[in-house]
Amino acid sequence: MNQLSDRINNLSTSQTLAMAALARELKAQGKDIISLSLGEPDFNTPDFIKEAAKKAIDENYSTYSPVDGYADLKEAICRKFKRDNNLDYTPANVVVSTGAKQSLYNIAQVMLNEGDEVILPAPYWVSYFEIIKMSGGIPVEVATSVDTDFKITAAQLEKAITPKTKMIWYSSPCNPSGSVYSREELTALAEVLAKHPNIYVVADEIYEHINFSGTFCSIASIPGMFERTITVNGVAKAFAMTGWRIGYIGAPEFIAKACTKMQGQVTSGANSIAQRATIAAVDADPKVLHHMVEAFHKRRDLVVGLIKAIPGLKINVPEGAFYVFPDVSSFFGKTLRGTEIKNADDFSMYLLSEANVATVTGDAFGNPDCIRFSYATSEEQLTEALKRIKEALA
Ligand code: PMP
Ligand code: GLU
Repeated sequence: MNQLSDRINNLSTSQTLAMAALARELKAQGKDIISLSLGEPDFNTPDFIKEAAKKAIDENYSTYSPVDGYADLKEAICRKFKRDNNLDYTPANVVVSTGAKQSLYNIAQVMLNEGDEVILPAPYWVSYFEIIKMSGGIPVEVATSVDTDFKITAAQLEKAITPKTKMIWYSSPCNPSGSVYSREELTALAEVLAKHPNIYVVADEIYEHINFSGTFCSIASIPGMFERTITVNGVAKAFAMTGWRIGYIGAPEFIAKACTKMQGQVTSGANSIAQRATIAAVDADPKVLHHMVEAFHKRRDLVVGLIKAIPGLKINVPEGAFYVFPDVSSFFGKTLRGTEIKNADDFSMYLLSEANVATVTGDAFGNPDCIRFSYATSEEQLTEALKRIKEALA
């Protein structure tokens, strides 16, 4: 008898983490797997951040921290919001959490009632859908395609809004498409939202610094949007700190208070040492990230070039993050080396078994025509992976 709750039985496993685990398992069995599945920088955390953590240990930051984060970290986050995003948050607007994932979970839990609709421009990051569902919300997907750079238009947003719409969640730069919304594009979306003052926006800006477009816009900086936006960010991606588990939000005070109440019953304050290290990270001039961003940019160019040379794959040029999201639908209905490719799941599994390359199916991100590659790995590995894929598809 299944004694687990309906809640967990109805929850899907994170496909990004599942594929990464499968790749790890196959590697342990001795298979020569190249994993392009997990979105995780392959750099080490910068030394100045590690030093701050070591100092924090020596200074005995070993007790519970305030639930919403250390006061001086929250002040540093406000300085960062001002410096990078021209946003005037005060510490009362900021909550520090155990990864941006917890920030997102808190938001869903404190904002959604049963049956509230949340608009998700698709493709969206894999966990949005399940977090919203788990919190009683109904994800409403708005489809885009490679032909429109995977961005939604104002008209599409307008059409998706119903009396039940409570929020819209998006990431820019986007995981998985790498698309970056310009100020003009966000302004057009904000004009639609101006007609619907009860809708809140979650702007997930965790890839903010991994951006090759030369511009970045926080929707909260657009007139009329500050009071209805929850800006989500964290140190995992830009600072190569995925395992440190620190994310944060800037939000209207009543939402920040509610998120604090929520995590006060679930996790308490985030890890004390990681919070102290995060002060060094957010206070640093983003120029310290230059070498990593440059490396991602070079790899982006390499991967886009190699994918364009594979017949049947269709791709946009991602402007940020470290993913490419090619449309592979031209292979659907074909048989490759005796395997029938019906959908993106089959395609991704075929690449795993025939090319020893791990990717993630686009289905997990709400786009069944595509698959996602993370290019946060060395140029040698990327070149080898795309060579194998080309051969497997020939
Ligand atoms: N948002 C997006 C768009 C992501 O790709 C990720 C992946 N880590 C997260 C949030 C969660 O970040 P964290 O590791 O800080 O929980
Ligand atoms: N965000 C990363 C990804 O999309 C890490 C995995 C996860 O947290 O789901 O691959």
